[in-house]
Amino acid sequence: MNIAIVGAGITGISTALEFARDGHQVTVYEQMNAAAEDASFAPGGWLSPLAAQSLAAPGAGMPLKSLRSGASLLQAPGMLGSANWRWMRQWKKNEKLAHKQGNQPFCTALHTLGSYSASLRWQNCEDTEMAAEHKAGSLVLLRTPQEVAFWNTQLASLQTLGVTCQLLNATQAQALEPGLGQEIAWLNALHFPDSESINPRLWAHYLRMQAQAIGAIFRTGISVQKICTQPTGLEISGQLHPFDAIVLCTGAKHQLTESLGLRLPLMSIWGYSVTAPVRDALQAPRAAIMDWAQQATISRMGQRIRITAGLEMGSHASARHHNHTLQRMYRLLNDWFPGGAHLSSPQVQVWRGNRSYLPDGLPAVGPSGHPNVWLNIAHGSHGISLAAGCARAIADMVQRQTPAIDMQAFSPQRF
Ligand SMILES: Cc1cc2nc3c(=O)[nH]c(=O)nc-3n(C[C@H](O)[C@H](O)[C@H](O)COP(=O)(O)OP(=O)(O)OC[C@H]3O[C@@H](n4cnc5c(N)ncnc54)[C@H](O)[C@@H]3O)c2cc1C
Repeated sequence: MNIAIVGAGITGISTALEFARDGHQVTVYEQMNAAAEDASFAPGGWLSPLAAQSLAAPGAGMPLKSLRSGASLLQAPGMLGSANWRWMRQWKKNEKLAHKQGNQPFCTALHTLGSYSASLRWQNCEDTEMAAEHKAGSLVLLRTPQEVAFWNTQLASLQTLGVTCQLLNATQAQALEPGLGQEIAWLNALHFPDSESINPRLWAHYLRMQAQAIGAIFRTGISVQKICTQPTGLEISGQLHPFDAIVLCTGAKHQLTESLGLRLPLMSIWGYSVTAPVRDALQAPRAAIMDWAQQATISRMGQRIRITAGLEMGSHASARHHNHTLQRMYRLLNDWFPGGAHLSSPQVQVWRGNRSYLPDGLPAVGPSGHPNVWLNIAHGSHGISLAAGCARAIADMVQRQTPAIDMQAFSPQRF
C-alpha cells in the first residue's frame, strides 16, 4: 500500500516504522522543519508506570484541582470556554465511574497498551543507552501519610495487573538514588524496578533513522491543509496527493481532525520541562524519580537532568511562561538533588509543550469514520510510553489484521 502519515512526532515516526517494516511505501509529512520538534521535543522520558504520570487517567489519583490559586498545579492563564468546562465535567464523571467500578478501567486499559508497547519498544535495538539514554527503574516519592495511604490502595490493583512495585523506606530508596537530598521531608518511595526512562527526542530520531533505512520518506516543512476522502488523499499547497490510506498522528494540532468533522472532545494541556547539565554526578539522579505531590518527574538523560511539571489549560502557543511553575521546578530539582544540576549554566533549556487529552485519558487509535483515514492521536501524558504499541496496532488495523491486544477501549468511535 501507499501510506501517508501526517505528523513526525514520536507517534508518526513509530507508525511509519511499523508500516515500513511490513513492506509498505510510506511518506511522512511534517509541517516543522525537522521531526520531533513539537510535543516530542523535550517531554519527560518517563515510560511507566502509566498510572503515576500527571493527569494519567480519571481515577488515577491526580484530580483536576482548583484553578484559582497561582500556586496550584493546574493553571488556566486565560478565560476557560464552555468546551473546557464541558471537558472537565466529562473527566470528573469518568473519575466517579472509575471509583465506582473499583478496578479503575481506564488505568487497566492504559496498562495493557503500555505493557504491549514496552514489549515491542526495544526490538532490533542493541544499545538502548546509545539510542535513547535509557535508564531502568524509577521511584515515586511520597511525602505525606495520605499519599502513602492512597498508594497502598493502588498497589494492590497494580500488582493484580502484574506490575512489580515495592514500598521502600527512605534508607532503601536512598541506596538506589544516593543523590537524594535532605531538604524535602518525605516518608516512603515506591520502587518500580521494571519501569524505564529515556530521552524522547533522541529515541524519536533513532526510530526515524531506522524507518528511513528501510525506505520511509520524511517530507519536513510541509503543512497538510486538508484530508480528501473521495478519492483518499492529502491536499498540499492546493494539490491533491493520492494515497491508499492516511494515518493522522498530529498530536495536539486539531485542525485536520476538526476539518474532517470529527467530534472528539480533545483538550490541550500544556506543561514544562527544564533540562540542565549534570554538575556533580554523585549528586545527580541515576535514573528517574517522581515527586507525587508536585506531579513532577526528574530523570537522568546522559550528562543532563530533566525535570517536567505543570498543567495549563485553555492556553495557547504564544502565552507567556508561567513563572511560578518554572520557579517551582528549579526549586524542586535543587531540593531533591542538591548540587546535582548546573542550574545557572547557559545550557539550561526551558521548554513548554502541549499534550492532547480525551476525557477518559485514553488515546484514539483506529478508524476515523471516513474510509481509509485513520487516527493515532490523543496520547495525553503517555505518548512516548504508548508509541510502539499504538503504532503496531494501527498498522495491523489498516492491513485488516487483528491487533495482538484488544483495542476496543481506544476506538475513536467511543465518542
Ligand atoms: C511537559 C510534558 C511532559 C511529558 N512527559 C511525558 C512522559 O514522561 N512520558 C510520556 O510517555 N509522555 C510524556 N508527555 C507526552 C508526550 O510528549 C506526547 O504524548 C507525545 O510527544 C505526543 O507525540 P505525537 O507524535 O503524538 O505528537 P507531536 O510530537 O506533537 O507530533 C505531532 C506532529 O504533527 C505535526 N502536524 C500536525 N498537524 C500537521 C499538518 N497539518 N501538517 C503537517 N504536520 C502536522 C506537528 O507539527 C507535530 O510535529 C509529556 C508531554 C509534556 C508536554
